[in-house]
Amino acid sequence: MNRFRLNGVTYYQEYRKCGKAGCRVCQRGPGHGPYWYSRDRLGHREYIGRQLPPSIEAARAAYRQKFEEMLEERGRLRLALTAIESHINGLGLSNDEKAALQGLGYGDTLA
Ligand SMILES: [Zn+2]
Repeated sequence: MNRFRLNGVTYYQEYRKCGKAGCRVCQRGPGHGPYWYSRDRLGHREYIGRQLPPSIEAARAAYRQKFEEMLEERGRLRLALTAIESHINGLGLSNDEKAALQGLGYGDTLA
């Protein structure tokens, strides 16, 4: 089931039971849906529907893109930190670590 937060609002999907006697959909599975709902910081819940509005989908995609960039940046920073520690402690550097230090502008110190 999908769930994510955006600008303080939580978007999530749920199945709903319709309550009709003999409904095959509700008897066979979790119910109707899934349908999107939102819940704001105050706990106000709002029905959205089967599809998210395009503006929310676009904002979600943009957030995912930024999140991926953050993960990549974290990887670069971790490598750079390892390289700095190794260099300060007089240990040998891998080529990736050398590249990380050069990327930070410390290429001259490696000569
Ligand atoms: Zn039903």
